[in-house]
Amino acid sequence: AKKADLGPLVGAVDQGTSSTRFLVFNSRTAELLSHHQVEIKQEFPREGWVEQDPKEILQSVYECIEKTCEKLRELNIDISNIKAIGVSNQRETTVVWDKLTGEPLYNAVVWLDLRTQSTVENLSKRIPGNNNFVKSKTGLPLSTYFSAVKLRWILDNVRKVQKAVEEDRALFGTIDSWLIWSLTGGAKGGVHCTDVTNASRTMLFNIHSLEWDKELCDFFEIPMAILPNVRSSSEIYGLMKAGALEGVPISGCLGDQSAALVGQMCFQDGQAKNTYGTGCFLLCNTGHKCVFSEHGLLTTVAYKLGRDKPVYYALEGSVAIAGAVIRWLRDNLGIISTSEEIEKLAKEVGTSYGCYFVPAFSGLYAPYWEPSARGIICGLTQFTNKCHIAFAALEAVCFQTREILDAMNRDCGIPLSHLQVDGGMTSNKILMQLQADILYIPVVKPSMPETTALGAAMAAGAADGVGVWSLEPEDLSAVTMERFEPQINAEESEIRYSTWKKAVMKSMGWVT
Ligand code: ADP
Repeated sequence: AKKADLGPLVGAVDQGTSSTRFLVFNSRTAELLSHHQVEIKQEFPREGWVEQDPKEILQSVYECIEKTCEKLRELNIDISNIKAIGVSNQRETTVVWDKLTGEPLYNAVVWLDLRTQSTVENLSKRIPGNNNFVKSKTGLPLSTYFSAVKLRWILDNVRKVQKAVEEDRALFGTIDSWLIWSLTGGAKGGVHCTDVTNASRTMLFNIHSLEWDKELCDFFEIPMAILPNVRSSSEIYGLMKAGALEGVPISGCLGDQSAALVGQMCFQDGQAKNTYGTGCFLLCNTGHKCVFSEHGLLTTVAYKLGRDKPVYYALEGSVAIAGAVIRWLRDNLGIISTSEEIEKLAKEVGTSYGCYFVPAFSGLYAPYWEPSARGIICGLTQFTNKCHIAFAALEAVCFQTREILDAMNRDCGIPLSHLQVDGGMTSNKILMQLQADILYIPVVKPSMPETTALGAAMAAGAADGVGVWSLEPEDLSAVTMERFEPQINAEESEIRYSTWKKAVMKSMGWVT
């Protein structure tokens, strides 16, 4: 029998650094009906380099869509009820491909990649005008993190790309662009576009005029012809050209952190969320105002949900390494065989016993922006074992969040009364409790943790011409909340935090 009328459904691709997912939601209740997930390989060809295969990423999207549709059929849910698809993606990761063959011309250079350290140093010596040139236009510090320098490196070092640019065959994009172009037909008519949130992470985009900035492109020597068209985060970009969902419009596109902000319904000035994935990203909605941080936070486009809708901005605290430290303990040290096992180890000891772990694998992002930092584990004694190190790794994620929350509170003036969280790591209850203890405010987690995908689905469902999602709070009736209250006293929490800061100081200046 057919499942009772569910109303219109909306799908979302969530292409993260660790994995790709496809999820299908009921647009009336935001209930997650089915999903499929595939882990993505990361390659580390040299020290500091991080790459992924754009074709593997695209294949994983197709695989997730097909498997999810199979699961829906098994549930007797008619996939023709899927009215729209949203895309959310790891941001900044840079792809260049050939528009005639549809083939990538180089591996994707992942946001965490550090190869551009000397590119950044050289560029920073010749910033025109005052030092604020890049930041005032983009909201970003000149750093290895953002796409412009990765693209500069590719243009300088990959002959195939140079040739394709000369022959007018090269296209640049972040993962959203690569996916939307490929899914809407690729070399046979694919749509080359991005949305304002992803564009705002390239360091080529003027966040005030919401256009590619000619002066920035000149400064980074980027040919503007290879850049995608910039669109709002919620409009029909094109139709799926193949697979089980052929013909369904792709009508939502948001960088993953913006998508989570939308999925958590942080639509008001001052509302914030923290997402714990590969890295950790705290975003606070600042409404229509571009607020510039005095404390190492970024200014970024939060979302623009429709061509004629206003743009919203956010202050962002970015931490490079959060879940990635758990993956490192699994893949590089082998002290766990799955990420979930970290909880068991940490629980055995319930303390790091004075051990501190600063996972500055890619330098330190907010609030330090210190590329010379490298990871350290300190405070070791004969007594330290792998359980203490596991605990210290979880604590590191919480301390890093505390640092960005402090910066956020200072920039915004009004301290957050609680922290809304989501992301893959939030299934770890020890982590959530530790976070409440270290922040000394409650941590609130939605029962449905896939808020990134939900945000992309909401944007897709709300687009003009789709109109199945109205973005009102009652549309999330299927989402309930879990709360973690602080349990240790503030004094104890402060002592641990100040020792952490000492450890951070020791991690800096390793690379010169
Ligand atoms: P991304 O969006 O960056 O791909 P996810 O939100 O999917 O990341 O979260 C995956 C990350 O969370 C991985 O780095 C993984 O190591 C970590 N992770 C997953 N489950 C747990 C857990 N139970 N405890 C701690 N870390 C976890």
